[in-house]
Amino acid sequence: MPDLLIRNASVILTMDDARSELANADILISDGVIAAIEADLPAENADVFDATGAIITPGLVNTHHHLYQTLTRAVPGAQDALLFGWLQRLYPIWARFGPEEMFVSAQIGLAELALSGCTLTSDHLYLFPNGARLDDTIAAAAEVGLRFHATRGAMSIGESDGGLPPDSLVEAERAILGDCIRVIDAFHDPRPGAMTRVGVAPCSPFSVSRDLMRDAAILARDKGVMLHTHLAENDEDIAYSLEKFGCRPGQYAEDLGWVGDDVWHAHCVKLNGQEIDLFARTQTGVAHCPCSNCRLGSGIAPLRQMRDAGVSVGLGVDGSASNDMGNLMAEARQAMLLQRVANGADAMSAREALEIATRGGAAVLGRDDCGQIAVGKRADIAVWDARAVENAGSWDPAALVLAGPAKVRDLFVEGHQVVADGRMQTIDLDKVINRQNALAARLAE
Ligand SMILES: [Zn+2]
Repeated sequence: MPDLLIRNASVILTMDDARSELANADILISDGVIAAIEADLPAENADVFDATGAIITPGLVNTHHHLYQTLTRAVPGAQDALLFGWLQRLYPIWARFGPEEMFVSAQIGLAELALSGCTLTSDHLYLFPNGARLDDTIAAAAEVGLRFHATRGAMSIGESDGGLPPDSLVEAERAILGDCIRVIDAFHDPRPGAMTRVGVAPCSPFSVSRDLMRDAAILARDKGVMLHTHLAENDEDIAYSLEKFGCRPGQYAEDLGWVGDDVWHAHCVKLNGQEIDLFARTQTGVAHCPCSNCRLGSGIAPLRQMRDAGVSVGLGVDGSASNDMGNLMAEARQAMLLQRVANGADAMSAREALEIATRGGAAVLGRDDCGQIAVGKRADIAVWDARAVENAGSWDPAALVLAGPAKVRDLFVEGHQVVADGRMQTIDLDKVINRQNALAARLAE
């Protein structure tokens, strides 16, 4: 691949260690890596990309999603329910999914993320009905071209054992651990610049046993992969933990090896001060999902307190059954607004929200090679049209979060162009949308 030279951007919000904001700088990309950032770099043999009128940021990083749920947006009966009731409405629908549903829904979710500026996403897939496999989503991501951290989720406690999911969606714990090993060996790439990584991710403390939580942590550390689950999402979740385990979620996580810089937990809306200190001390990561938390009425996560304590936090759009939008820039705006509701107008700046959405998320996912525009980092770059109507009249690049646009003009992942002029380049999106709608119609029958 020839080198690529990005020129003429209005400003580059680098999110580097100095949080530099550069006007009149070019970015040279070579072999998927940012090779130079300077004014007036010579084009020599590079292809030149003209970013006139654009604000450039690092590609956004999504730390929590269930891509398969793009097939169950706005399901009647699940639109206004709390977490547990919401799950019980959706489980029987998800039980009818198979490999095709997993593949197509993942492509939709990934394209939606890409168009909102996301270059790196994790996914949490925790049900595998009718022959569906983690492989289906990994294949989908390879075509779309986003950097992808697939996590092998699981549920093992069905209704007949006092759990929430129907028995048809749970798996035997030995089989779960065996498949985790299979997908790690088949797909996990630990090297810098990796396009695919795999994590181990039992769905939540209320859908698997204590033994599986512990064994998953041992397995992940043996294999050198990361751990992910849902934690402390709402009051029901805390009550369940106190009743069934006799402790709060933070204690449960600590007891079972679920803290450390190789662990990140989704939501953490209800962490108390002690738990925030635990997460900060152990460098345990958090995927903050403000829109999902609003949608399910879970509450406002203590993001300000977590950041002030030094907890590593990224953003997540969460699954499309609970958002139902998968726009990561919109998520950054929502994160900022909610902290202002909770703590006042000076509680979070647009720049801090953007930082959490980029280098914050990359840190949570263990990717110090991503999330910022700096020499030696991967060339994951979002190009935003500062001449768009949403940005017209703005005085400062903070407008990107405050005003928009919330969709990218162009997107590069590992130096490859995934979005050009607002259109997906890697897949025929109209065709995938048609397939998705046909599948949704069949599920609704
Ligand atoms: Zn989730």
